[in-house]
Amino acid sequence: MATCPICRRLPADAKYKPFCSKRCADVDLQRWFAGSYAVPGPADDAPSRDDEEG
Ligand SMILES: [Zn+2]
Repeated sequence: MATCPICRRLPADAKYKPFCSKRCADVDLQRWFAGSYAVPGPADDAPSRDDEEG
């Protein structure tokens, strides 16, 4: 059986899979948001090719 990725306990409520509880689900969600906000996200329209092979 898979364990909670946050606290490594066995999930007690299937409603919050793969987490054991709403608390851990919220923790993961906040980490996800924090990560997405922290990542600067480089624009894909910057034509810089300094690293060509050769
Ligand atoms: Zn947990």
